[in-house]
Parts: sequence; structure tokens; C-alpha cells
Amino acid sequence: MRIAVLAGGVGAARFLQGLRAAEPDAEITVIGNTGDDITLFGLHVSPDLDTVMYTLGGGINAEQGWGRSDETFTVLAELTEYGTGPGWFGLGDRDLATHIVRSKLLAEGRPLSEITAMLCDRWRPGVRLLPMTDDRVQTEVTIEADGAERTVHFQEWWVRLHAAVPARRITPAGAESARPAPGVLEAIAAADFVLLPPSNPVVSIGVILAVPGIAEAVSAKAVVGVSPIIGGAPVRGMADACLAAIGVPTTATAVAAHYGPGLLDGWLVDTQDKQAVDAPELAGIEVRARPLYMSTPALAADIAAAAVDLARQVSR
Ligand code: GDP
Ligand code: CA
Repeated sequence: MRIAVLAGGVGAARFLQGLRAAEPDAEITVIGNTGDDITLFGLHVSPDLDTVMYTLGGGINAEQGWGRSDETFTVLAELTEYGTGPGWFGLGDRDLATHIVRSKLLAEGRPLSEITAMLCDRWRPGVRLLPMTDDRVQTEVTIEADGAERTVHFQEWWVRLHAAVPARRITPAGAESARPAPGVLEAIAAADFVLLPPSNPVVSIGVILAVPGIAEAVSAKAVVGVSPIIGGAPVRGMADACLAAIGVPTTATAVAAHYGPGLLDGWLVDTQDKQAVDAPELAGIEVRARPLYMSTPALAADIAAAAVDLARQVSR
């Protein structure tokens, strides 16, 4: 069985860990969001790709959900002593090695997709991890500051401002002229079905779908998504602030309606949201309710197995 998965960071990584356990023989291709990528201290950081790679490779800080295990912050502290910013982005010493390798190879002219494969030679995530594109796409957030509009990098809004300043617009800058990375469209076309893990619908899944060609390729397949919204709130993070920026209510039903029946064939919601099963807005989408908290790897595997079941059913 071949499965293609569009992935953000923490929500996707935990789901993928479950999927790999539930379907150990499946060939899984992960198409990762790079809109969150940022250059810090001259280094290219790919937070979502790294979260997936470290989680599946056994190097993640499991409580935090991102960054390396057994991490120290000596370099960041020294940089702060020099007054060199930004200090708000947690770059650990072990993690820095990944960004140094990536940046060195980028400077040598290698594409991000090739570099990601090289990094995965060390981590052996058990899936094929592809960036959505080798081109530069940067998610930008337009906020209002002192009566004027200001555009900041997604990470500045999310990490430094904790998404507490309302976003007027969220834009995947550069997406319109980006091309899917080598292998992305092929993996989607070859997949038996596509899964959308409980990732941020706007800045993770939405940005991947903004790369021309990807949404069309995905729509041609059986697609099953897992709701990142439970009981009207994100499970972790501030996805509600992103949904507000695009005028979508923070409910499991509204997120599925936003993806729409043209893209989505099946949708898993939490038991708390079981009214979504009969929601008239979701006509044309097969909705199932079950517990959706990935509190342990075993529970994440159960959720992934349920997503695969539903995908098989809607593919018939
Ligand atoms: P990020 O890039 O690290 O923000 O990660 P993602 O885009 O992959 O996912 C973030 C989303 O995962 C958030 O909207 C959370 O609500 C969702 N999420 C996190 N943990 C869980 C969980 O246990 N169950 C479900 N259903 N969603 C979760
Ligand atoms: Ca992210």
C-alpha cells in the first residue's frame, strides 16, 4: 500500500508515528510544509521538516514536541551575550548542527529535497520525507501595529508574538511561482490515498496546497483528514488565530467545510464533535466520530488505523 501524507509539524509528526506503527508495510511519502522556514544567524531552519524527521527518527524532545532531546542552549546564550538576535527562537546546540549542515549544502547549490534526503540518511524516519517545494515560500502575517499594517514572518507572529496580535491576512509569499519538489506529484499520483493529519489547516496544510499543482493532484485521490480542532479549540498551538484570519470558525465542521467535498472524501472528528457526522454543510464528506487525542503513541496508532480504514472505504 502507498500512502501520501501532507504534513505540518507536531500534529503531523505524532500522527505519522502512529501511521507507521499501524501500517508497518506501507510505503509512506510525507510532503512537508516549508512555509515556516526561516533564516536565523545565516542558517536555514526548516521547523516542520525537522519535527517530522526528529520524531520519526527518535531524536525529538517528546514533551515539547519539537527540537532535539537532551538539548542544551550554550550557543544561543553566547549569541545573546553578543547582543545578536533574535533570542525568541529556541535554537539548541544539537539542533544547530542540522541547520549548519542544511545551510552548507544549500550554499553549495543543492536543492532542499536532496538535502532533506541526506539528513534522513542519518535519522532513518521510515518514511520518504519530501519538502513541498525546493523554491522559496515564506508564510507572512499581516498585523496591525500603531494604526498601520505591518507584515512579519510567520515565526515572528507565532513564536515572538504568540499569535496574540490578530492577523489580518496570512500569505504564503512565493507560493504562486513555486514548483512542487521532485517526486511530490509522482508520490501523490502513485498513492492509494492521501491523508491529512491533524495539522494546522491554514499555515501547514493550506500552504502546501497553495503550491500550484498539489491541490489538483490531491483532489484526484481519495483523501481523508483528521480534525486538529476538538470541542471548538485547537489541541495545542494557536490554530484558532490562523482560522480567524481566513474567516473560518474554530470547529471541526467548519474546517472540513473549508477544505470542501472537492478535496476531502472522509473526515475524522472527535467524539465531542459528533454532531459533525450529520452536519448538512458536510454533505459529500464521510464523517466519523472517535477519540482523537494522540496522548500516547498507541492512541495515535489507533487514530491512524481509523483514518486508513475510512480511506479504504471511501476509495471503493
Ligand atoms: P505545527 O507546525 O507544529 O504547529 O504542527 P501541525 O501543523 O502539524 O499541527 C498543529 C495542530 O495539531 C494543532 O492545530 C493542534 O490542534 C493539532 N494537534 C496537536 N495534538 C493533537 C492531538 O492529540 N489530537 C488532534 N486531533 N490534534 C492535535
Ligand atoms: Ca509549523
